[in-house]
Amino acid sequence: MADNHSKVDGARVLADLNALRAIGAYKTGVHRPTFSEPHMRSLEWLAERLPEAALTAEIDGIGNVLGTSAKSRSKLLAGSHLESQNFAGWLDGPLGVVYALEAARVINPDSNIKGAVEVAAWCDEEGHFGHFLGSRSYVGDVTEADIDEARDRSSDRTMRQALQDVGLVGRPRARAERGRHIGYIEAHIEQGLTLEGAGLKIGVVTSIVGISQYRIVFAGEQNHAGTTRMKDRKDAGLALARLCVTIDDCFPASCGPRTVWTTGRITLDPGAPSIIPGRAEMLFQIRDDNPETVDRLEKLLRDLAAEIGAKSRCSAEVMRIRAGAPALMDAGFQKAIEDASATFASGKSIRMPSGAGHDAQVLAKIMPAGMLFLPSIGGISHHWSENTADADIVTGAQVFVETCRLCVSQ
Ligand SMILES: [Zn+2]
Repeated sequence: MADNHSKVDGARVLADLNALRAIGAYKTGVHRPTFSEPHMRSLEWLAERLPEAALTAEIDGIGNVLGTSAKSRSKLLAGSHLESQNFAGWLDGPLGVVYALEAARVINPDSNIKGAVEVAAWCDEEGHFGHFLGSRSYVGDVTEADIDEARDRSSDRTMRQALQDVGLVGRPRARAERGRHIGYIEAHIEQGLTLEGAGLKIGVVTSIVGISQYRIVFAGEQNHAGTTRMKDRKDAGLALARLCVTIDDCFPASCGPRTVWTTGRITLDPGAPSIIPGRAEMLFQIRDDNPETVDRLEKLLRDLAAEIGAKSRCSAEVMRIRAGAPALMDAGFQKAIEDASATFASGKSIRMPSGAGHDAQVLAKIMPAGMLFLPSIGGISHHWSENTADADIVTGAQVFVETCRLCVSQ
């Protein structure tokens, strides 16, 4: 019977999530940027709870919280993050951390289960100072020079200063121990409409899309907006606008079924109403889980930029500034999540890729990784109104803990 598998305490899970929501509360969400006072309080909150799950707590030199077990057999690492985007939602991150804590509380003291769940809260998943600095540090992908360069995108405070301010300076950074974990598992809200739209309760993540980012620069001729005749202009801003529209016209014929692309920032130089822009820059992103699709679109992007540059009498430069390979989720974890969903969510699960980045893609570089998604009401996230029904949160906790149990019992 299902009840014998799980002693998940749904009320305890909801109470923990609400306790975290009260730390840095903003409307019905939270404002808990990395290394802010409420963020540090949330890390302390978790560190104080880990002993309840037979785990030893540590906050490391980059702000990761790790709960480690003394059990000798197979250990599963589980977690997510506790900082938030600015003035954002209460579940993005904390859901996965509280589920991991609950799994550890249920599984670790059970003498019939030889394995254990270890808990992690990765620092700065939301990218206030960089991208995935906490989990990347854990897998050995962050140098001291990277930390020297990192700055808070909102306040310009350096990461070194922030670490000093919160008292973490001088602490060692935790590193993954080879062979310690059978894998990493993370639960997260979907942040989209797939599950809610289909009346489903659990998303079984198959892959996390790769993010490729580009800086595109058109250079023309800065000149007077009143005296320069239209035929004589080399308007870099106009070239950039043409490219944005042309991308949207041409990409659909070459993209995959779930490819998305975004122009996130445009800068015109000098950016004044009476001056024809001599330089125009845009930051452009492509996300897909198939590298061949991204390669094809990148070539198209370069061709379009060159063509429009020539037509606009401007030079065009396309620089790839971030290349993200998609991360595939482990087949065994996908099966375990599906089996647990059959037991605790009436089989209302679906396999789906993740269009958002998560720490699981970083952990996937060194160990098998799995992710499960919960429905987001209205698909809303990165906003204070982000929410998931309490009943869905409890169902998700049961599926998550059962998945962990299946994995550490093997
Ligand atoms: Zn998140």
